[in-house]
Amino acid sequence: MIYPTYEQADISLQDPAAVRQVFLEGYENGLSACQYGAVASYIPELAKADGSAFGLYAWKKDGTILDLGDTTTRFSIQSISKVINLAVALKYRGFRDVFSHVLMEPTGDAFNSILKLDMVESRPFNPMINAGAIQVMSLLEPEFSFEDLLAFAREICLDEEIRLNEEVYRSEAETGDRNRAIAWLLKSKEVMQGNPDRITDLYFKMCSLNVTAKSLAGLGLVLACGGLNPFTGKHLIAPGYVRTIKSVMFTCGLYDESGEFGVRVGLPAKSGVGGGIVCSAPGPMGIGLYGPALDPKGNSLGGLTALEHISHRLKLHVFDYE
Ligand code: GLN
Repeated sequence: MIYPTYEQADISLQDPAAVRQVFLEGYENGLSACQYGAVASYIPELAKADGSAFGLYAWKKDGTILDLGDTTTRFSIQSISKVINLAVALKYRGFRDVFSHVLMEPTGDAFNSILKLDMVESRPFNPMINAGAIQVMSLLEPEFSFEDLLAFAREICLDEEIRLNEEVYRSEAETGDRNRAIAWLLKSKEVMQGNPDRITDLYFKMCSLNVTAKSLAGLGLVLACGGLNPFTGKHLIAPGYVRTIKSVMFTCGLYDESGEFGVRVGLPAKSGVGGGIVCSAPGPMGIGLYGPALDPKGNSLGGLTALEHISHRLKLHVFDYE
């Protein structure tokens, strides 16, 4: 992992020019880190991404934006859809019901690991790993169509242009045997109800939503505003559920790199193997990143690098007191 060295943190959030400079430095650090990463190839369609692409979009409640680099390219949301699915599940099934089906513990294992599921505890450890997200999807599949979930994704990402990426969906569906295995294992243990094929199909479709760095900034902004769309005043998720979602993102959002990200960046975030990262920050501010060159754990290397710089320089870490 390539991280910049620490410098003195002395920038005020109230100084727009200084803040812009910090974001620019973060962007430049992130851009140069991309050369050390590699695009995901286990879903064949993802291997076509341009590993040198990098974009950063920061969006504040007052409408202020910072738009750097590649922020209009559409790419698949992948695991970041787990945040959206969890939001819908909490909204319609409630906290108790959701967390009687899935735990809220980080695993320290890879996102698609099956290990703990069979050896430690039958319920998936958290909603941000594949097993947990598939379990959450089993709670939604009987009630919600793909169109319903897509409509919610558009609302919560402040992006009406989000659509299904058919190529990525087909590629995932063709090569998603491990996810199907997870679903059938959950079914065999009777922790999951329903039809594993239909459930994984909906999971694949949600992973294949085409977003931009800006859509992810929109999602981060709504989360930073406690579930409120700051531009329309519409409540999309209750603040208590947003607190839950951000806590799970903080502890589990970066797979088996969540602990290190918590120490180095200290903000709720979620990554996807398409190269996206959504981050919810004080301000309130949403930060969306796109950099498909990944580190070995499956996280955007440029995204991690940029976020560490920005969080440190602006003292955004949740445990920075001042
Ligand atoms: N669709 C991917 C999978 O299920 C999502 C994983 C990810 O982004 N980490 O394998």
